[in-house]
Amino acid sequence: MTDLELPESSAWWKAAVTIGGFTLFWTWETFWPFIAPAEHRLRHAGRNVAIAIANRLMLAILFGSAIVGVVQISAQREWGLLRQSGMSQGFQFLMALLLLDGWMYVWHRANHRIPFLWRFHRMHHSDRSMDVTTATRFHIGEHLISSLLKLGLIPLFGLSLGHLLLYETLVVGITMFHHANISLGRCDAWLRWILVTPFMHKVHHSREHVETDSNFSTVFSVWDHLARSYRMRTDCATIAFGLQDLADADWQTIKGMLITPLVSISSRGSEPEDQ
Ligand SMILES: [Zn+2]
Ligand SMILES: [Zn+2]
Repeated sequence: MTDLELPESSAWWKAAVTIGGFTLFWTWETFWPFIAPAEHRLRHAGRNVAIAIANRLMLAILFGSAIVGVVQISAQREWGLLRQSGMSQGFQFLMALLLLDGWMYVWHRANHRIPFLWRFHRMHHSDRSMDVTTATRFHIGEHLISSLLKLGLIPLFGLSLGHLLLYETLVVGITMFHHANISLGRCDAWLRWILVTPFMHKVHHSREHVETDSNFSTVFSVWDHLARSYRMRTDCATIAFGLQDLADADWQTIKGMLITPLVSISSRGSEPEDQ
């Protein structure tokens, strides 16, 4: 398989994980919610999903061809750490997942550290109730900046379309899982040695700044363990989600979400680094 060829089943796998994961976790939350669901659950879900669909369309139009083009040029010129490493295809896939997930840790942490990036990322954190649809609630500005940076990672790491699609599929499945309003009970503690779990990510969505600034990992939890940003609490059922200064109903509407980055940082003072 070359860098531009994908097994025919790849796109289907991503679609199956997206639809299957959403159906599974939505059903799980409906019948066995960990915390009482949002008062207007369908309205809350509808807004988050609408934002996600608009984001996907815009990213496909703006970056679809650019990603294929950059992968093509990188492959032709043999650019990238993985291509130069001489590792087997299987090992390259494993390393690509780790490199991309390590990058996501750095990127997520930068979103909390750098005030300009936090303006966009705080839209993800302003959700007052957390469920599977929170996984898709990101400002298009954050997506645009991260997609631009990812274009640079392709030649740097030597990524193929297969690497990118496999990691994206993993991200879709795991982010729906760890945002879902579900509990794995005691299994959560075992699983979070390897993966980001629902309890682990709930701590990241807490209104307590010290908790918001922890648990930055996306798929594998190893990055938080290594960088000492891992944090847990005994009772995840009592976490208050959202951001103090963006808690009003106005910030939960589609318009409110879209204008979130424009709010003056100093006047609302919700920066986690300001604690
Ligand atoms: Zn965050
Ligand atoms: Zn989240």
